[in-house]
Parts: sequence; C-alpha cells; structure tokens
Amino acid sequence: MKRKFAEVLKHLFVDKYNCIICDRELPAPTPHRTCNVCYHKLEIIEDGFCLKCGKKLYGEGEYCLDCQEHEKYFDRAVAPVCYSGAAMRTVQELKYENRRYLAEPLARYMIDRFLSEELSVDLIIPVPLHEKRLKERGYNQSELLAAEISRALGVPMDASVALRVKDTLPSTQLQGRKAREENIEGAFVLKTKDAVKNKIVLVVDDVLTTGATSSELSRILKKAGAAAVYVLTFATTREKPPVERQESN
Ligand SMILES: [Zn+2]
Ligand SMILES: [Zn+2]
Repeated sequence: MKRKFAEVLKHLFVDKYNCIICDRELPAPTPHRTCNVCYHKLEIIEDGFCLKCGKKLYGEGEYCLDCQEHEKYFDRAVAPVCYSGAAMRTVQELKYENRRYLAEPLARYMIDRFLSEELSVDLIIPVPLHEKRLKERGYNQSELLAAEISRALGVPMDASVALRVKDTLPSTQLQGRKAREENIEGAFVLKTKDAVKNKIVLVVDDVLTTGATSSELSRILKKAGAAAVYVLTFATTREKPPVERQESN
C-alpha cells in the first residue's frame, strides 16, 4: 500500500530538475528537461526529411517514396525527432503510463520544430481519441500536447471540433496499405463544420507512423473548408530501406 502511494505521488509531483528520459538530476532547469547525454541519443530531425510527411529519408531527395506514389491529404507534416529508442519509450510513458507531465517538455521540442518552419496557423486540433479509449486512459495525450503548443504559440485550440467515431486498430498492426486505409476510413466526423472554414489548421498528435490517421483527419477538415492542414507530431518514423518497403506494402 505504502509503495503504491509513493508511486502515485511520483506521477503527481515530478521534480522539474530531473531528466525526463534517464531521470538523473539536471544541473539547471531547461524547457526540454533532457540531459545532454539523452539529448544526443535522440535522433533529432534537422535535415534530410520528406518535404511532405516529415519522415527522415532513407536516401537523398525531397520526398519519400510513399509520398511520391500516394496522396496524403495534409499539406505538410513535421516532427522534431525519429520514433525510436528513448523517444519511443517516452511517448509510451506519456500515452500508457499516466505520465501527463511529459506533455510539457515534449511539446517544447514540437514548438521549436514548428517555429523553424515559419508556418502560420489559425487553429489547433488534437487528433481525437475514441470515447472508449478516452475512458480507459482518462486523458488524450494529443490534447495535452496541443494545449501546451496552443499556449506557447498563442493560437487557439479546439478539442471538440473533431470526433473519433470508429475505434480503429493501430495502423502499425495492419499489413498493407489497403487494410490501413479501410481501418481508418470514416473514423472521424466533425461536430462543428464551420469551425474550420477558411482556416489554416494545425493537427497535433504524438506520433506519425503510416500517416493514415493524420491524412484521414485532414481529408475531412479540407472537406469542411479548411484552407490548409499542417500536422505536428513529437516523433515520426524513418523511411524504410527499399527491401522492407516491399514487405509492408
Ligand atoms: Zn538524461
Ligand atoms: Zn513522405
């Protein structure tokens, strides 16, 4: 009992001077709350990314093969780090281990990345969770990130515009493009259609993997008259080497 209580306290009151990745004490508080060692372990994306989906490219060029061959409904997606190692673990802690305090430092990485692109937006929309998932988890991690970004950029966030009406499977669990498209099709509806009309919308999510979720949400936002849709996630996957691409398509 005592141990459990200590565990609860740990989640509620977090020492702001500790690194969010290795938990070692930081010499000084920093917005990213990451020590130097851990920062260098993150695969920060500064160049060599796809100009459409933001994925770290396998080879040279401007667009990944997937974006060259298939339509995505968002205008651009960007992310500060690759979804691997420490970044992956931290996202999972935010998502599944109730470590809501991680939203603030992770959002800091996202804000820096967003500002480096000099994009301007009118409205921020977090990718909604299905009601069932929201009940299980108690919070939507994308909304926590979006709230931090909204505060920092001074751009309003509206988490009630879009609803997730279909309890989809994680697209990484599905083999093949067709299965992923069918899984996500019709997953979202807009509650207030006029809210996005003629607006430049920034969709916020924790991770971009196949891009299917963000693309589907962007599709209905555009259908409702959004002028442009950008996507900002904390992490994104790397473009796969040509051999693996064959297998997953
Ligand atoms: Zn560290
Ligand atoms: Zn791409």
